[in-house]
Amino acid sequence: MSAVWIDDEAAAAADVPDAPNKGLKIERETHKLEKRLCRQVGQAIVDFNLIEAGDRIMVCMSGGKDSYGMLDILLKLKARAPIDFELIAVNLDQKQPGFPDHILPEYLGGLGIPFHIETQDTYSIVKEKVPEGKTMCSLCSRLRRGILYRVARELKCNKLALGHHRDDMLQTFFLNMFFGGKLKGMPPKLVSDNGEFTVIRPLANVAEKDLIRWAEHRQFPIIPCTLCGSQENLQRKQIGNMLREWEKKFPGRIENMFTALHNVVPSHLMDAQQHDFKNLKPTGIADDNGDKAFDEEEFPQTSPALGGLQVVQL
Ligand code: SF4
Repeated sequence: MSAVWIDDEAAAAADVPDAPNKGLKIERETHKLEKRLCRQVGQAIVDFNLIEAGDRIMVCMSGGKDSYGMLDILLKLKARAPIDFELIAVNLDQKQPGFPDHILPEYLGGLGIPFHIETQDTYSIVKEKVPEGKTMCSLCSRLRRGILYRVARELKCNKLALGHHRDDMLQTFFLNMFFGGKLKGMPPKLVSDNGEFTVIRPLANVAEKDLIRWAEHRQFPIIPCTLCGSQENLQRKQIGNMLREWEKKFPGRIENMFTALHNVVPSHLMDAQQHDFKNLKPTGIADDNGDKAFDEEEFPQTSPALGGLQVVQL
């Protein structure tokens, strides 16, 4: 089944050396980018079983580069998928002042795919309830979530696809660790908090910089996200800056940290809910994964090609 989502031939083609001519080089790079995006989304679909036959998936469109990219790649994969599933693009027009409400209907109408624009003036509610100067995002997103669940129900969708990408996931992981005291990230697949839908994040493996390049190449009609005038989430911004700074100084670190999210070793952490420390007893059998007492762990030298590398050595 994985071969149908991940085009291995195309993946190999994406790795061929650059062309010498500049125009050809740009074309080749764009081609490689497209193949990489399809391969990474396909891999997430396979690894986490994000899409199954018969799914009706509500693709949540904010008008930002990520949701445009997600829809674009999902449509490409749907065209070649051997299973039947449906994609319905949905945008919630929250009536922020200056929201260009013609852009998404025009774009989605041009694609000829099913879509729905839900208009709900949550902006006025949030403005009225949140004192001036306080951040409005928490109430705004709570209202948005409730509306999107209702719309998904009305459209008979069983899954909601969100455009969070690899960098959002890493940021969330560090936000939870630094400010929430938890080792907890943003999962590629989870049941919604009301227990009704499966929430999927098909861009889980995709780097933000690739989505920026893809949006430029495809010239998506991006709607700015600052219309509501709310303050940015400063903590998320700080974490984003920290990660970018690290990556600049230590190329490959983001990739390495992302790989680490796939390689959790509960026996080497301290959560007694995840590992039964209380009843732990020697087995008498040598185990390379056991404690090495005073020995320092040894790690490979940092390399940009870290795919598949396990950060936590047992
Ligand atoms: S930035 Fe504005 S639109 Fe986005 S969640 Fe915050 S208040 Fe809502």
